[in-house]
Amino acid sequence: KVEEQARAFGAEIIYDEVTSITRSGEVFVVKTSSNVFYAEAVILAVGKKPRKMKVPGEEELKSRGISYCTICDAPLFKNKVVALTGIGPQAEEGVLILKDVAKRVYWIYPSRNPGVKKETLNLILEKNNVILKPNSKIVRVLGDGRVEGIIVRNLVDGSEETLTVSGVFVELGYIADTGFLKGLVKLNRKGEIVVDKYGRTSHPGIFAAGDVTDIRFKQAVISAG
Ligand SMILES: Cc1cc2nc3c(=O)[nH]c(=O)nc-3n(C[C@H](O)[C@H](O)[C@H](O)COP(=O)(O)OP(=O)(O)OC[C@H]3O[C@@H](n4cnc5c(N)ncnc54)[C@H](O)[C@@H]3O)c2cc1C
Repeated sequence: KVEEQARAFGAEIIYDEVTSITRSGEVFVVKTSSNVFYAEAVILAVGKKPRKMKVPGEEELKSRGISYCTICDAPLFKNKVVALTGIGPQAEEGVLILKDVAKRVYWIYPSRNPGVKKETLNLILEKNNVILKPNSKIVRVLGDGRVEGIIVRNLVDGSEETLTVSGVFVELGYIADTGFLKGLVKLNRKGEIVVDKYGRTSHPGIFAAGDVTDIRFKQAVISAG
């Protein structure tokens, strides 16, 4: 519907990755991987990207058993053994979803405690199918074409164990991938674009909207507004 409406108002939609934006006199030069566009104003709405584990096997097995969105992909792992890495509300939500779908869930986090309320922890552990792995991190994802296992390191004693899993859910939060905008617009320490209440950035003629901005709440309705 949004796309239909945009086209009806004359928008031309091009699927490409913007690699740089520079100013040349009165116009902005927007370079993509295969083209160059010129514009009098630019709206940046590039969202955020999930934070990666940055471990061997991750790139190769991305979308082959590694998921960055538990709520989206959990149903694909019905009755399977899976692992989730992360801590905080997103990880908590993910484990709560997975415990009702998967056969077994290894919850791997670097701290001593999972950082959830006692009642929530009771709920998580009620089916006896969630195994807590505190003080731990995934150091390698194993598999030939699909995830088959992970190597988990205990951060206290350095020991490592191999777990057989067919899915790895990464809930390490989201990052603003705004390196290509450095020097063009003001970014905060999280790399988010600083905007005022009109969506104006520090660079006249460049606006920003959505998750990539420094607006605190990351919700679809706010991004659209
Ligand atoms: C699991 C999950 C559940 C959620 N549930 C809800 C919910 O129930 N209700 C709600 O309101 N919100 C929800 N949200 C939040 C909501 O999805 C976001 O707030 C919203 O999608 C942000 O919109 P956006 O346009 O800023 O960014 P995005 O939707 O992330 O879109 C950014 C787009 O820019 C593209 N892009 C990035 N870099 C470049 C580049 N250099 N060149 C060209 N294109 C680029 C990306 O590929 C992407 O298509 C949820 C988010 C997640 C992860």
